Amino acid sequence: MDTKGKENKTIDEKGQENRQEKKTKIKKERCHFCNKKLKMINFTCRCNHKFCINHQSPHSHNCTYDFKKEKQNEIKKNNPIIQTKVQKI
Ligand SMILES: [Zn+2]
Ligand SMILES: [Zn+2]
Repeated sequence: MDTKGKENKTIDEKGQENRQEKKTKIKKERCHFCNKKLKMINFTCRCNHKFCINHQSPHSHNCTYDFKKEKQNEIKKNNPIIQTKVQKI
């Protein structure tokens, strides 16, 4: 009485764990001044830093950009009339 059957267990080990760790570093931009997270609305100042609504103006974040020079150039560009106005008879 042979009831002993050879059981050849063929186990397919599907132990393949494909863990794709995507290194997606999402740069969460923060306000350069208060470090607050910026969402959709953010402002890039002329000093190349991003700021929140509260610190968008140069005065509010102690901007290092030389606005005096910029202003002088803008005045010259935008108002060339002033210079020629003097020559008007
Ligand atoms: Zn801010
Ligand atoms: Zn600035």
